[in-house]
Formats: sequence, structure tokens, C-alpha cells
Amino acid sequence: MTAEQRSKLWAFARGDIAETPFEKWFLAQDDLESPLGEDLHWSLASADYRDRDVVWKLRKSLAQHLGAHEGCECASLRDLAAIPMGGDGLDERVFATIENVRDHGGDLWWLHLSRCSECGQHWMIAQEERIFDEYFLRRINKESAERILEDNWPDEFITYERVLNIGHNFDTPCVFLNAMSGSLAWSAEDLRKARPEITVDEIARLLGVTPKNATRLLRANGS
Ligand SMILES: [Zn+2]
Repeated sequence: MTAEQRSKLWAFARGDIAETPFEKWFLAQDDLESPLGEDLHWSLASADYRDRDVVWKLRKSLAQHLGAHEGCECASLRDLAAIPMGGDGLDERVFATIENVRDHGGDLWWLHLSRCSECGQHWMIAQEERIFDEYFLRRINKESAERILEDNWPDEFITYERVLNIGHNFDTPCVFLNAMSGSLAWSAEDLRKARPEITVDEIARLLGVTPKNATRLLRANGS
């Protein structure tokens, strides 16, 4: 199996390539039967890719087969992945090989560039430990990583508002027992500081609180 074939199979297994282009690509490969095994190869070649259950099972079996030969979690993660802090330990498995290369620093406390010591994959990471308790990871190529090292960061995680919006695509915000928690107050302040015209309703939605609570949080910050 070539590196390109492996990368394509992984992209399908984790959901980064749609069914139709994958099926077309797979049927054009003539040397994958022995690396995949007869059963899995036959399933991939003959499956009904319009059936969501079938596709879900195929992706799972393929990930299991490919994962047995990987020394890290990188290939199994979506190009844009959300990893909960704590929970079932996925964060520990992922960060066992991913090391911090560069912090953005300054006001952008959440933003890092990291690299996997096992496979060399670079990841741009937003460590969001206030509202979602998740790491958001964007797979990036070597060229983007080099630009970051010259202090030229991609836009995707460049504001806290963008990071929280990405969080909403994956999950719902954590529920705070203390409605005036510091995490909420600081986040409200960061959002307003970065974009003074942001409305109370927008802040409320991003933080997962009521507009009334958002107003109180802003007042507590004196803004
Ligand atoms: Zn890796």
C-alpha cells in the first residue's frame, strides 16, 4: 500500500472524503486486496454506498484495520477535530505524541502550533478550556506550519469568537453551576474587547447563557 493510498483510505474512514468520490477512487485501485485482506476489500468494493448504516460500519472496520498499524492517533482524527478534555481518555492518547511547537501568545491564549513526534503531522490547536472544555485541532501541512513559525497564522482560530463558533458546531457549551463564574466573565470580556459591536444576544449564544446573564457578566466586567 502506498502512502497516498493509505492517506486516502484514512480520509474515508474518518469521514473527510464523501462516499461517491471514495467509491470511484477505490474501484480504480487494483492492488489493495492483499494489504486490506479479502473480506474487507470485498466489502469496500461491493458495498451500497448510499446506505448510511453500511457506510458507518465500513468506516469503522476500515479504521480498525488501519489503526492496528499506527503508532499515534493523527490519521484517525478528522481534518478539523474536537477532543474533549478528560472524558474517555482520547485526549491522553492523542497528546501522548503531539508536542507543542509554538504558542501564539499575547491575547490569543488558546492558540498553539503542535507536531506529532510519531508521524510528523502538524496541528494548529485551539485549547478552549473555559466554555467547552475541548481542544479543537486543524490538520495543517508543512507549508502552513512554516508560515506559522514566521508568525503568519491562518484565520480559522484567530479570534475567540471564531473558536466558540467552531465549538458550537461540535457540541453544546458546558453548564456552569455558578452563573457568574470567572470563565464566563472573562470570555464575555474577551469577546467584547475583540469586537466591540458584538451584541449581548450574540455573546449569550456563544457562551450558552441567557441574554440576561450575559448582561450581568458584562456589567461585572465594567463594560
Ligand atoms: Zn501522529
